[in-house]
Amino acid sequence: MISAILPVYAPPNLSFERGEGSYLFGSDGRRYLDFGSGIAVTALGHAHPHLVKALQEQAAKLWHTSNLFKIPGQQKLAQRLVDATFADTVFFTNSGAEAVECGIKMVRKYFDDNGQPERYRIIGFEGSFHGRTMATLAAAGNKKYLAGFEPNVDGFDIVPFNDLPALKKAIGPETAAILIEPVQGEGGVRPVPPQFLKALRDLCDEHGLLLFLDEVQSGMGRTGKLFAHEWAGVTPDIMAVAKGLGGGFPVGACLATEKVGQCMKPGNHGSTFGGNPLAMAVGNAVMDVMLKDGFLEDVRQKANHFRQQLSMLADKHPDVIEDVRGSGMLMGLKCKKANTALVDAMRERGMLAVTAGDNVVRLLPPLTVSESEISEGIDIIDAACGSLNG
Ligand SMILES: *Cc1c(COP(=O)(O)O)cnc(C)c1O
Repeated sequence: MISAILPVYAPPNLSFERGEGSYLFGSDGRRYLDFGSGIAVTALGHAHPHLVKALQEQAAKLWHTSNLFKIPGQQKLAQRLVDATFADTVFFTNSGAEAVECGIKMVRKYFDDNGQPERYRIIGFEGSFHGRTMATLAAAGNKKYLAGFEPNVDGFDIVPFNDLPALKKAIGPETAAILIEPVQGEGGVRPVPPQFLKALRDLCDEHGLLLFLDEVQSGMGRTGKLFAHEWAGVTPDIMAVAKGLGGGFPVGACLATEKVGQCMKPGNHGSTFGGNPLAMAVGNAVMDVMLKDGFLEDVRQKANHFRQQLSMLADKHPDVIEDVRGSGMLMGLKCKKANTALVDAMRERGMLAVTAGDNVVRLLPPLTVSESEISEGIDIIDAACGSLNG
């Protein structure tokens, strides 16, 4: 008999009663070091006092009015995102997939407005992930996720990761944009080399294409910059953001330049819940913390330490860990044994991590993690690797 919850997940028999900073407290009475962060979402840890306060204060005042009226929190958060990035304008969503969808619609509308409606195709990359709606599935082209849901949404051409010749060949008269995650998260924690991102920007300029970045996972401080593309020194035309933006409250955003955003007029797009006062209160509270002087520098320092420790573990356990990859606090252990076996062995020892494609274990500590919590995590991974050895 089917479970009351649609069985699209198969979780272990574990739930949590509360969280505090880098720790979750399980219904099994145990404490877990949370290096999964709900898939890069609880970027400031659990129950961050500033976020809790912002949500509670807003909850006592006003929850929802819809976008039929002005929402002051949107004005404030949008302006802060505009001031901190390449963007001139922001649309708020409830999720990452919706942020990517908004970007896809803007790509099409931009070329339609410019008298080139035949240019609607978007080039994506193997191994990417953009969400679970019909269009975002097609944009990633992951056959495993598309199987059974055909016919696919038209308009996406998928090329191999980090393969410039293949990409150039795929650009045709109907091409409108290139969509890429600066660090592939779900696909196996694969950073795009900075020179490849630069080459993409150049190609886009040369062919009049839009560069569309999916920073749903890599953004909001995850790599030690507010957004991962800053490492490469290039800027996109459109960018999708979500996950860390609400620190655990569901919220996403699609950012764009004026050139692109001005094609969107009243009635062209919308969302009932997107950017509601609760989401904006928390999003602004997240920005209060992340924009503080020294916050991202501290993340970078801790991330360097984390990477060094992980590399030492890889040297110590060559039969378990093949490779350490990633950027900042978005790290991956490419495994020789099953990645699920390592995640299970870590969980048995009181630590949470997330699997990713390509047999990788994803490590996504909260950006607020302390050095001693990193050491604790390294010790647990060490012991878990030891249990899998031989
Ligand atoms: C998680 C993720 C999405 C989808 O976000 P949802 O909130 O699950 O819709 C899109 N792109 C990337 C890169 C992601 O990591």
